Amino acid sequence: MSIHVAIVGSGPSGLYTADALARIWPDVEIDVFDRLPTPYGLVRGGIAPDHQSTKAVARAFERTLSRAGTRFFGNVEIGRDLSYDELKAAYDVVVLSVGAEIDRPLGIPGEELPGVYGAAAFVGWYNGHPRHRELDPLLDGRALAVIGNGNVALDVVRVLAKTQAELADSDICAHAAERIGAAQLQDLYLIGRRGPVEASFTPIELAELGELGRCDIVVDPAAVAAEVGPEIPEKEVKVRQRNLEILRSFAARVGEPKPMRIHILFNAAPVALLGEQRVSGLELERTRVVGGRAEPTGERFELSIDTAVAAIGYLTGPLPGVPFDEKRGRFANDEGLIEPGVYAAGWCKHGPRGVVGTNRTDAGVLVKRIAEDLAAAPPSGGKTGTGAIDALLRERNVRVVDFAAWKRIDAAEIARALPPKPREKFVTPESLLAAAADH
Ligand SMILES: Cc1cc2nc3c(=O)[nH]c(=O)nc-3n(C[C@H](O)[C@H](O)[C@H](O)COP(=O)(O)OP(=O)(O)OC[C@H]3O[C@@H](n4cnc5c(N)ncnc54)[C@H](O)[C@@H]3O)c2cc1C
Repeated sequence: MSIHVAIVGSGPSGLYTADALARIWPDVEIDVFDRLPTPYGLVRGGIAPDHQSTKAVARAFERTLSRAGTRFFGNVEIGRDLSYDELKAAYDVVVLSVGAEIDRPLGIPGEELPGVYGAAAFVGWYNGHPRHRELDPLLDGRALAVIGNGNVALDVVRVLAKTQAELADSDICAHAAERIGAAQLQDLYLIGRRGPVEASFTPIELAELGELGRCDIVVDPAAVAAEVGPEIPEKEVKVRQRNLEILRSFAARVGEPKPMRIHILFNAAPVALLGEQRVSGLELERTRVVGGRAEPTGERFELSIDTAVAAIGYLTGPLPGVPFDEKRGRFANDEGLIEPGVYAAGWCKHGPRGVVGTNRTDAGVLVKRIAEDLAAAPPSGGKTGTGAIDALLRERNVRVVDFAAWKRIDAAEIARALPPKPREKFVTPESLLAAAADH
């Protein structure tokens, strides 16, 4: 008897889970659903367009999706086209791997002002996520602040600081490349509530800032004099020390001034975004770090800015019927188990942390658990997977984008790109579905 599995979300966590399942049960039937007509989640819509080598993991995911017994159901949203209960009725195992696509709010006054964006929306805009195509961010001013001290914040400042030539071999969408190319930005502020030791940058990404052709990096040498203290976990110490070395090397740089600057500001907690018609300033409060936490000092200052991007984390959106942990902003689960037969994987399970490869290790652990649960309570054999689901989707006139249709989108995007650009993405649902059509 073959086991029928539904995986909701075709990002790294869903596809590594599919791969691990097929290694244990070669005849498993897996249906992978995604609300977008395109697979691969943040590999397509999150990872920076100039990080093509990281995006190359899509080739391994392609092999996973093209395995006999695995079917891709693109353009099918669970909670809209099919319900959670319908999946549970049709499949022996349901794995939710929908990621964390909502920006964690800053929770300060002025956040709703025009010119203030969350990183999910901003990154989605330059990466061609259909939901964010219309963002049209205000990039007409001189100064922009990115709030956050992780790799996503680094991605945003780096992409904005690159010249058109530096982005030429990236897959940044044409609409974004044009807007960034026309921008007159001079000062980009990268703002962290805590100190340089606590920043969660990875050294390779931090060092990349130093390679930008038209941009200086401004760091106060006094701010990076700190040493890694005993509160930092042993396995993190090397990375944090390396970050400090890189920051010190930035602080020590001399040379001809360049037309743009990235100011890296530590120990500065956002208090309010200021402005009337649109954002015009950011009020900050100096902090000191005590026991790894930022404590306010009462000393405030303001930056004059024209745009702000908040990159302070992501939340999972609730899905009707799925138990939800409101406090943490993710599905309620116990080591991946949501309820019998239903599991969570990736960012909707444990929140937005880790790199693509982390999901592979996690998938191995989750699939081991699924195997143990199935051994303890074997499926009755009454669930037929795709059969029931196909009928529902037909009845509801859902235009399913299968793997062959995705490959048509893929080929069309590659064909229409001007070299050295690897692809020119379609960015609206209509253009994606038109490219998916089998003429
Ligand atoms: C801006 C950014 C840059 C990053 N850069 C890097 C990097 O350079 N290197 C690196 O290793 N890692 C990077 N990461 C981390 C990496 O992208 C994540 O670890 C990984 O994508 C998490 O995988 P996931 O499957 O949990 O979620 P996701 O990749 O978000 O996949 C979730 C999928 O679920 C789908 N979905 C959501 N809701 C539904 C629904 N209701 N029905 C059907 N489908 C649904 C979505 O469309 C999406 O395809 C980056 C992350 C971000 C945010």
